[in-house]
Amino acid sequence: MGSARQAALLNEGGNFVVTLVIDCHGHYTTVPEAHNKWREAQKSAFKAGQATPPYPAISDDEIRESIEKNQLRLIRERGADMTIFSPRASTMEHHVGDQATSEAWSRACNDLIARVVGLFPETFVGVCQLPQNPNSDLTATVKELRRCVEQLGFIGCNLNPDPGGGHFAHPPLTDPYWFPIYETMVELDVPAMIHVSGSCNPGMHATGAFYIAADTIAFMQLIEGDLFARFPKLRFIIPHGGGAVPYHWGRYRGLADMLKKPELGTHLMNNVFFDTCVYHQPGVDLLARVIETKNILFGSEMVGAVRGIDPTTGHYFDDTKRYIDALPITPEQRHAIFEGNARRVFPRLDAKLRARGL
Ligand SMILES: [Zn+2]
Repeated sequence: MGSARQAALLNEGGNFVVTLVIDCHGHYTTVPEAHNKWREAQKSAFKAGQATPPYPAISDDEIRESIEKNQLRLIRERGADMTIFSPRASTMEHHVGDQATSEAWSRACNDLIARVVGLFPETFVGVCQLPQNPNSDLTATVKELRRCVEQLGFIGCNLNPDPGGGHFAHPPLTDPYWFPIYETMVELDVPAMIHVSGSCNPGMHATGAFYIAADTIAFMQLIEGDLFARFPKLRFIIPHGGGAVPYHWGRYRGLADMLKKPELGTHLMNNVFFDTCVYHQPGVDLLARVIETKNILFGSEMVGAVRGIDPTTGHYFDDTKRYIDALPITPEQRHAIFEGNARRVFPRLDAKLRARGL
């Protein structure tokens, strides 16, 4: 281990552009089993109307092992330097239990992320799960974001636009319902990744349908409103390559026009960013052709939604760095996607890296 690897890229002037490779989208999907068992016990206790048992002791060695064998190994093998790391998204399950359930679960998950960051401070930086609940306002959510940023040193959050879990019954992201969390995000200067969780709708597969639908729906909600006129410093990352948005870019530009909104470049694209979790080369090619470089952040969602090997390439579907490496772009553009944009969208990450002399 030791210091960051820093890939050197040669630009057109023949000068080296040194870049970190920062993965903006990683989840702790490999947590020690005791953490998952506690969650099951918490859910059972809620159903039975009983008190939740105390959180189990989990040793540093258990956490170390769960990371070294999985995320850290893959980060090294694939040539990345850092991962912006958050709790497993599919088990946020904001629709399970009540506000207190969600609060206790979020705290446990975020505390575990903080321990990973503490054990591997050069490789991981924390992003939090929020204790949303479909029947509650955002008071507890605001409180947990503040705790994670101010006390745990986290740099962002995952915001679930559909905490009901697959029924899209919540008000759109432009509704004043959400303003308390936006005000806090702006105050703390942290972005949110728009990220749904597990689906309790049997007609909507979580990672294949719900995730991609929610990404696309979030973007359309933003088109219909004027959220960034009210919150010009608010920043969202829409994961999974922006859902269907880049592929249908003409549709969304046309809809913005029909709705008498400004063109997307000024209406949304100073505040909305897409990651590269698309999982095949033609998809990443399209993303890079359609969406401006300044709006693309390297991400893999590893170890996550799609874990197999693509038989047509022989490489893991989620080894997304390969797709960026293969893009016909300049070293400066590559630097922006791997490092520069992440540092701009996550100013608290930039400050941490500067403090390390990077
Ligand atoms: Zn994710």
